[in-house]
Amino acid sequence: MLTPQDQTRLDALYASMKEATEGALGYPVARDFDYAPLYRFLQFPANNIGDPFQASTYRVGSREMEREVIDFFAAMFKAPANDYWGYVTNGGTEGNLYGLYLARELYPNGIVYFSEETHYSVAKNVHFLGLRHIMIRAQKNGEIDYEDLKESIRLHRDVPAIIFANIGTTMKEGRDDIRRIQEILRELVMRDHYIHSDAAFCGPFAQFLEPKPAFDFADGADSIALSGHKFIGAPMPCGVVIARKRNVERIGRSIGYIGSMDTTITGSRNAFTPLILWYAVKSMGEEGLRKRLARCQELAGYAVAAMNARGIAAWRNENALTVVFPRVSDTVKNKWQLATQDVSHLIVAPGTSKALIDALIADIVEEQA
Ligand SMILES: *Cc1c(COP(=O)(O)O)cnc(C)c1O
Repeated sequence: MLTPQDQTRLDALYASMKEATEGALGYPVARDFDYAPLYRFLQFPANNIGDPFQASTYRVGSREMEREVIDFFAAMFKAPANDYWGYVTNGGTEGNLYGLYLARELYPNGIVYFSEETHYSVAKNVHFLGLRHIMIRAQKNGEIDYEDLKESIRLHRDVPAIIFANIGTTMKEGRDDIRRIQEILRELVMRDHYIHSDAAFCGPFAQFLEPKPAFDFADGADSIALSGHKFIGAPMPCGVVIARKRNVERIGRSIGYIGSMDTTITGSRNAFTPLILWYAVKSMGEEGLRKRLARCQELAGYAVAAMNARGIAAWRNENALTVVFPRVSDTVKNKWQLATQDVSHLIVAPGTSKALIDALIADIVEEQA
């Protein structure tokens, strides 16, 4: 039993999280989800320990659903039917770490190339793995500078190239074109290469964009990571990583204690988040995801037009849900939880309303007056 004081604190936290959720505009998280039908699963000590494609001695888990989530995204990302593998991760960061881990096992002395607009966690991941990296300039829109990439690879042609591509950078949703990157690798006769697509936010909808960004397995990716709590929406961080099975087979070790293969980064793994993602993809389907995207795009277009009409120099990349504008004051940044670096942005994730965008614009305009 909680003391009355502790109960009061819990209630206060609930109220403040509710309020903070309703007013957040700067991070790429959907908030229109309802997973109430899954609450009953919270009473089990569930754990998807080990490989999702192999049974474990411990049976309290959701592996079967996890595999369906993997199958869904593998098909969406055009992974080769007989050569894919994946698992539900703790988020985009883990999926990205996993892709780089596979790359390192393939090319232990490879150099990782990624743009300066890359998510902050990637430099740390590369450090964990003891890999060398070269940071490449980004264009103004957040996309990698292909000339700089080509020059940098040219200087290290004797070493395998591991490309960490952004399919939607964190600040500007700039998308690196991996077909163009492959052309560069071909021109330089770089046979030994690995390409990982970081599609943390855009992964669940990139396939539906027109023109479609070049990021999937058919475009030449060797692994792709996405976050589940961003465009799809989840009450806790989660994600998916899809990789080529033959690369995963290089690292798996059979572990007697769990009666499964140790192919994932952590041993114990969340069994609830695969259920969340399963529930989401089953209930929305591709059609639902497309509709979600269309609504968000319309609203992002509205946000740019409404800001421009009020004299705010806002812009977005083609089809992007991220609206970029000049740095706002700390007051506005804190009130609306706007991620701010050299610029500020708002992200139209599912659940964002026009009214919220209008209220933000009013605040910015009022300060400028
Ligand atoms: C959010 C994000 C990440 C990190 O994903 P988490 O799910 O927060 O671990 C990595 N890369 C990009 C481009 C992101 O937007």
